[in-house]
Amino acid sequence: MPVVELTDIRKSFGSVRALNGISLTVEDGENVAVLGPSGSGKSTLLRIIAGLDQPDRGKVTFDGQSQQGIPAHQRDCAIVFQHFALYPHMNALRNITTGLRHGLGLAKAEAEARARDITARMKVDDLLDRKPREMSGGQRQRIALARALARRSGLVLLDEPLSGLDAQLHTTLRLEIAGLLRAAGATTINVTHDQLDALAMADRIAVIDAGQLEQVGTPDELYTEPATTFVAAFIGTPPMNLLPVDDLGTSSFDHIMIKTGEPVTLGVRAEHLTLGPAATEAWRLTGVVGLVEPTGLDRIVQILTDRGDSVAFRCPIPAAPPVGTRVTVSAPLEAVHVYARASGRRLGHVESAGIAITASAA
Ligand code: ADP
Ligand code: MG
Repeated sequence: MPVVELTDIRKSFGSVRALNGISLTVEDGENVAVLGPSGSGKSTLLRIIAGLDQPDRGKVTFDGQSQQGIPAHQRDCAIVFQHFALYPHMNALRNITTGLRHGLGLAKAEAEARARDITARMKVDDLLDRKPREMSGGQRQRIALARALARRSGLVLLDEPLSGLDAQLHTTLRLEIAGLLRAAGATTINVTHDQLDALAMADRIAVIDAGQLEQVGTPDELYTEPATTFVAAFIGTPPMNLLPVDDLGTSSFDHIMIKTGEPVTLGVRAEHLTLGPAATEAWRLTGVVGLVEPTGLDRIVQILTDRGDSVAFRCPIPAAPPVGTRVTVSAPLEAVHVYARASGRRLGHVESAGIAITASAA
């Protein structure tokens, strides 16, 4: 099974720079999600890995073998597109076996055995006689996936395979597919704009924005230490609170002193802010409750601070303050992330060396 290595992949379409130097290694058997907003270059990257598009610059290797000049049909990978196409006039069985027979050159019996095996494991073997129009959207999606997995390629490429499904089916299929891919042991690159898909399915997530990698890490690493304000705002529900601090040099901001020498953005997650001033040194924010959102488990409370920033914090249901109440929330200093404003890059926690942010007397 291939270890995929991408080195400095660049691709432009006319004046549109779709990929701006992507380097990424995917290990044997690993499931990596490429997560980014629409238009960030995800599909272009996948097409280049599959050999459907050529990069302007950079290298793709499978198991150390350069893939340059190797056409898509000779690469050991299976791809499931966002807008997958099943042949409308063929039943599910033939949709799966056609590619195996004509693409991989398998005998009819072997192709059908593979189709029955994978659909049984996916619990859709009862659909084998049906044509696409006789199936629901979710069933068609499962058959399209079965067709890709039946190839038994070392590398499976998925381009937003769950988009366009209703929320409940989406959640069910996401777990099902993650389990199947794990069981198959295939190396997988899964492209999505949905952070929940990435968090639920991937061993590691590569966050991409405007053709550039922002951060590569495990779901926990991305959540606890987002490397950029883009990642901080993209991962997590609600997203991390990000507050610009405009003053250069030293400034006093809600009881903390900031001496960074450059404009910064402070970030704190909603669950690290608690109602009421903390006894120890803490970052305090005061504002008026604008919205109380029930999650079932707790409440997400939005306040508008005196500085005009919108800040969300999580709060147990009995303690949730009503809309219009004036409240103070605080976070321990070690929960406050500091980002350089110009680059969006993380400088560290407020306590870390070199970032002189200290609590002052209230
Ligand atoms: P994503 O899959 O993340 O939504 P894409 O990889 O499809 O993003 O596209 C990245 C950028 O490249 C977009 O600005 C898109 O409009 C542009 N692009 C993609 N394919 C083509 C193409 N064949 N011709 C021109 N522009 C393209
Ligand atoms: Mg796309």
